[in-house]
Amino acid sequence: MPRTLIRNADLVLTMEPQLGDGELGLISGGDVLIEDDRIAAVGQGLEGAGARIVDATGKIVLPGFVDVHNHLWQSLIRGCGTSLAVGEWLQACVFPVGQLNVTAEEAYAVVRLSTLDVLSTGVTTVVDWSHAFNPDFVRGNVQALLDSGLRFAFAYLGRVERVADMWEMKRAMIDPNPRARLQIGGVNPMMAAEVRHTLHSMAELASEMHVQLHVHLLEAEHNRQDEPLRALDLAGALGPRLIGAHAVHVTEDEIGPLARRGVRLVHCPLSNMRLASGIMRLGAIQAQGIRVGLGLDGGTNDTSDMFATMRAAVGLQRAVTRNPAVYPTVADALYLATRGGAEVLDMADQIGSLAPGKQADIIVLNPQTLNFAPRFDDVSQVVFNAQPGNVEWVFVDGRVLKEKGQLVGVDVAAVIADANQVVQRARTALRH
Ligand SMILES: [Zn+2]
Repeated sequence: MPRTLIRNADLVLTMEPQLGDGELGLISGGDVLIEDDRIAAVGQGLEGAGARIVDATGKIVLPGFVDVHNHLWQSLIRGCGTSLAVGEWLQACVFPVGQLNVTAEEAYAVVRLSTLDVLSTGVTTVVDWSHAFNPDFVRGNVQALLDSGLRFAFAYLGRVERVADMWEMKRAMIDPNPRARLQIGGVNPMMAAEVRHTLHSMAELASEMHVQLHVHLLEAEHNRQDEPLRALDLAGALGPRLIGAHAVHVTEDEIGPLARRGVRLVHCPLSNMRLASGIMRLGAIQAQGIRVGLGLDGGTNDTSDMFATMRAAVGLQRAVTRNPAVYPTVADALYLATRGGAEVLDMADQIGSLAPGKQADIIVLNPQTLNFAPRFDDVSQVVFNAQPGNVEWVFVDGRVLKEKGQLVGVDVAAVIADANQVVQRARTALRH
């Protein structure tokens, strides 16, 4: 059984209060022992006979980030419509891609780039909500996810006429891979009969497949006129199987009912800023016990940066309340980015913290850089100073995907060249 000992880290953030100090379970001079795909032990002075040694002297170790809402194909439209609000941006940059007949190879090339980008920032589990433009696109999209080594959920945008393909793709590409799972992507909920029929079918399919249903929920103010919560309720979709991304325009009155139904939500602060969507009532939502995670959200988060996302989650609430102690604190932001995401996915027993028996999804940060050093308070600086370049090692299931700052087995220049070729074709088409 392959063993790896990450040894003598300056600081290990276990995210498990019973394993270390404070609410983040901090261990100074800590080790993490990996056996096969799992964490075997966390503590000081661990024995690692026969193990590969990763010397973490001077480094910070924490669980890999869980990105609960992304659209990896959208590297194809990076930089598109940067002055547009969400509705206009969808019209100008997203929907036209449906007319391009993107091939499996093209989808692979752009998703490949994005998987490496999210890995670089320390994401070890990603939810890829895919517009699933055609079956070939889906194959290329999922193959890139499989090849990345990431743990992932592929949210396949569900329509009644696609159900057979959804089952077939699940059987052939998802079920054989222990790191892969399926979600059903739901169309934007609204009261129109046709939309409610689709949502109802997809809610039933999700239940039949034992997977989650994932919708964009009240992202923009104009979504309120669609009565999406009522539509979801009538479709039988408003329950613990439902993930709602953004939830910016959920009112105070709606938070309690959402909590009682067990709905989970995703906060995408950088996307909400860029698309002028608004600011989620994160504190009130957390106070009612709703499970919340963070999402990078694809092409509206032009650089995949989980540290900037945590910083924005903290900063937005401070700016709107003018209270520096408001939820989320630094510790809360780290929780949202790790355990919170795992809870949204019902995977908290497997990922989200560094505890014996959990999957070995681990990142190692090097803080000895111009943007991070000098070190005053490591935990605060992980949120306020760190950047993707500080992520030196990434392990998923105990496998090394980033080593000493380099992605393992990846020709980055070739990946960029392949994606560039796709984007050239798309950009020409999008301008017409
Ligand atoms: Zn989205």
